[in-house]
Amino acid sequence: MTSEEPQEEFSIHWIRDVVDEVLARDPDQYLIVTGKSMSGSVHAGFMKEIIIADVIKRELKAVGKDAKTVFISDDFDPIRAFPPSLTLSPDEYMGVPYSDAPDPHGCCESLSAHWTNELVETFPEFGVDPEVVLQSKIYETKEMLDAVRICLNHTETIREILIECVARDFDETQKADYIESMKTWYPVSVVCPECGRLQSGGKGSIVPNRVTSYNSESDEVSYKCAHCGHSETAKLDKLRLKLSWRVDWPAKWYIMKTTCEPAGKDHAVKGGSYDTGLEMSRRVFGWSGPVKVPFEWVRLGGYDMGTSRGVVFTNRAWLNIAPPELFRYMVLRTDPERANNIQTNLIPDLVDIYETFERNYYGLDDVDSEKQDLAKVLYPLTEVRKVIEEYIPKLSFKFAIVTSQLQGILSEETIMQRCYDVLKKQHSLSDISPEAKALIPARLSRALNWVKEFGSERDQVEVPDTVPKEIIDTLTDTDREFLKNFVEVLKGDPLDDEELQGKVFETARGVGLKDKRAFVVLYRILISRKSGPRLGGFLNLLGNEWVLERIMSVL
Ligand SMILES: [Zn+2]
Ligand SMILES: [Zn+2]
Repeated sequence: MTSEEPQEEFSIHWIRDVVDEVLARDPDQYLIVTGKSMSGSVHAGFMKEIIIADVIKRELKAVGKDAKTVFISDDFDPIRAFPPSLTLSPDEYMGVPYSDAPDPHGCCESLSAHWTNELVETFPEFGVDPEVVLQSKIYETKEMLDAVRICLNHTETIREILIECVARDFDETQKADYIESMKTWYPVSVVCPECGRLQSGGKGSIVPNRVTSYNSESDEVSYKCAHCGHSETAKLDKLRLKLSWRVDWPAKWYIMKTTCEPAGKDHAVKGGSYDTGLEMSRRVFGWSGPVKVPFEWVRLGGYDMGTSRGVVFTNRAWLNIAPPELFRYMVLRTDPERANNIQTNLIPDLVDIYETFERNYYGLDDVDSEKQDLAKVLYPLTEVRKVIEEYIPKLSFKFAIVTSQLQGILSEETIMQRCYDVLKKQHSLSDISPEAKALIPARLSRALNWVKEFGSERDQVEVPDTVPKEIIDTLTDTDREFLKNFVEVLKGDPLDDEELQGKVFETARGVGLKDKRAFVVLYRILISRKSGPRLGGFLNLLGNEWVLERIMSVL
């Protein structure tokens, strides 16, 4: 399903079902955890996970529970590749944890910290407030060291679980090879103190610095660095250790006592890494593990989820073109296990849909009770702050698209005045509250950014400083007569959009000019094109005085 089809069938039950399952765990504090590996700028689609966690927390708090969300930045993974835009040398850093590589942008304490900060700084605008935890810091804690020790003491059990889960669909030969390779396998790798690497080689030829033996009496491991050849036997607490990725997840659940963690379909599939992790929770760490909430990823039209391409559609990119509430709404209005496809080219329509939905919540439009009941439940979860009692009227995004493009030719004061006039008309208001006024600048700037990046040619309005000579040259005598008469209309009393639109027809017919030609003539004089925004409104937006001068300049 694409997003332009209105989805009548909203599903809010999933939140209720998940919250019931989470409530059954009855911990002292409910911890809803999310995580992301930091191998580049994070795609805005990731916010689905954060928003799901946020609404679970909100619902738990609503029934009086102590609940919080946590975001783990998985920054301790070894570097495998760099986004094309990065200036660091891949050879120098391949195999080094992301958290140990410098920030080439020069502003943060590490490469992964840069991407983490870029993401986290947008959280307040999306109305989410998870505690931010760095995986690299987790590995510096005594709790994690204990978890690593537990894993080393249960290596045999972990091998069994991996053979059951990973080799499940292998053929006989593959399975035999896998079982053989697991005989000497340990779930822990070491950051080499000599060369700083967790592994050697790049894609296809990766060899981790895996532990080769563990002595539980002396608490020592042996390893050999696959990159520089350094080898030693050392105490666990003298080394920087990292659990293999399928084991890292349940170890974090265990030490944090995670109540619930949402997971994208790729990890949450039956027998996938989530289920393997739950199995390890039970058989290695002796507890149930968190409640699994599987979800399908968000696609943003035109942009792929991957972060390997040069351009990543980040949270900031979203906030530049659309309100954060719209993103929350798009994610929450469907069951999480269904894919969301947000078409960036349809943002103006989607904003309209969201704002109609908002009006349903406030009971402002005459709609059926079902729609209103749904809005009562869903709308507060889409809001980035506590819902306020009084509705704040919003300027039409589509009007903002045209108006924002006139910032070069109309004064700021005139633009704001036009916005106030339209807002009044749109919502039948006698005056506008300061709260409503305060929202206008952001709306104009988002509309302008949107039209520049995603608007069609029809949406784009560029008013040249003067009417080009080649356009003036095409005017016929009848065209000029029409224009002269239309000037008289403009000199008269102010007309509303519809009346003015009507006057164009009337004036054209008066001189025997075809309607279509009259419109073409005006559009070409204004914006050097044959068509454009609805003319009556557009003329009023520009203002009689400006239009008059413009027409006089060609006569
Ligand atoms: Zn930085
Ligand atoms: Zn080394």
